Amino acid sequence: MSQEKLYEGKAKILYATKDPDILLTVYKDDATAFNAQKKGQIAGKGVINCQITAALYKWLESEGIATHYIDSPEPNQMRVKAVTIVPVEVVVRNIAAGSLCRQTGLSEGKILDNPLVEYYYKNDELGDPLLTRDRIFILDLVSAQRLTEIENIARKINQHLLSFFDKCNIILVDFKIEFGIDSQQNLLLADEISPDTCRLWDKNETDAQARVMDKDRFRKDLGQVESAYQQVQARVLAQLEK
Ligand code: UDP
Repeated sequence: MSQEKLYEGKAKILYATKDPDILLTVYKDDATAFNAQKKGQIAGKGVINCQITAALYKWLESEGIATHYIDSPEPNQMRVKAVTIVPVEVVVRNIAAGSLCRQTGLSEGKILDNPLVEYYYKNDELGDPLLTRDRIFILDLVSAQRLTEIENIARKINQHLLSFFDKCNIILVDFKIEFGIDSQQNLLLADEISPDTCRLWDKNETDAQARVMDKDRFRKDLGQVESAYQQVQARVLAQLEK
């Protein structure tokens, strides 16, 4: 690949292209957890996460959600619109799990009456701490108007994804998304939506470990990580073909 490498993250590499408004993202098989303290590989993950993200973003676009997705020239590559990433990770939760349970004592699996939207500072050195609205403004991470826009879009995306995954027989427990702003000041859904960034539970399984279809299989050493990711891809693509 002759293009200039702009940035290498934990799961993807970003390259410049001849067009300054277009970047190329290459998805890797590398997997990290706990702020990169746990490292490994998930065979085939790059292709799977790229294809799931491509399919979901194309579909979300058709539902009126603006995304950075352009196309996928190779199975593990995605061309995207160049954006400045808002350094706020937006987490939407439908069911209590993960850090919400650790930090509040809520039981894992508790259905939340209303989806919870939370913000985390995208800053590895600080360990991605939980933010408040006021902290976001003190740090000047994004304007109040943009944050309201981000919350509204995040809730809309959650509604779309909840009903979509339900049709795949998958429970969407929670997920993390990121937004970017393009050269025309449009707010776009950026980054990825994949088993790396969502908690997905198999509706057909009641066992707390057997139902896990996402990166928690890697985080918690539950085994069968690759087949869980493959299963998510198969169900997502089959549902979109219907
Ligand atoms: N998440 C993510 N990247 C992060 C942190 C969280 O994609 O850096 C996702 C995670 O996979 C889960 C959701 O965001 O679907 C909520 O994660 P949580 O805050 O519960 O943190 P965790 O328990 O994963 O540490």
